[in-house]
Amino acid sequence: MRRARAAVVREPGAPFTVLEVELEDPRPREVLVRMTAAGVCHTDLGIQAGWPRRLTPMVFGHEGAGRVEAVGAEVTGLVPGDTVCLTFASCGGCGQCTAGHPAYCDAARDLNLSGGRGDGSTPLRLDGAPLHGGFFGQSSFATYAVVHQRGVVRVPADLAPTLAAPLGCGGQTGAGTVLNRLRPEPGTSLVVLGAGGVGLSALM
Ligand SMILES: [Zn+2]
Ligand SMILES: [Zn+2]
Repeated sequence: MRRARAAVVREPGAPFTVLEVELEDPRPREVLVRMTAAGVCHTDLGIQAGWPRRLTPMVFGHEGAGRVEAVGAEVTGLVPGDTVCLTFASCGGCGQCTAGHPAYCDAARDLNLSGGRGDGSTPLRLDGAPLHGGFFGQSSFATYAVVHQRGVVRVPADLAPTLAAPLGCGGQTGAGTVLNRLRPEPGTSLVVLGAGGVGLSALM
């Protein structure tokens, strides 16, 4: 167990309250990340108001960036000290994941929106009781997060954390839509409705 501070939402619509919490050590394929920046996506705020009461108290946050502090025994490709950003969770084994489309993972709902790892457990504790987390696989509104290795992406060490963090949701949602899906031909026009993090990433 490790002590951390997290922005806890105690019940649907309640404010983000910074509290002392506890975090389990990483499981064999999990990574402990010390957070250095976290974006606030509109989804955090929208879901905060409508999140199921049975899954509170809850830690949100899904645009985290930080440093790897520790890795589980079976983690490959990441070592302590790596600079990383975090993204959504995916299973790695379903048809969508093996076809290279983890955003459409068959287990996406359980792994990202079940209030924990998807197996009913959560790595977080508040006052000795389970604290829901695993929001988009990360719950990055905290000083530390325990994340499955599939959601951890190494980035250049000199990339500012405030730029790395939004790559985990807004950046890839906007840029990915244009680069991977719409693929506009030279000379065609692209209309972006709304210039927040997603819209501006689409534009860039
Ligand atoms: Zn988001
Ligand atoms: Zn999958």
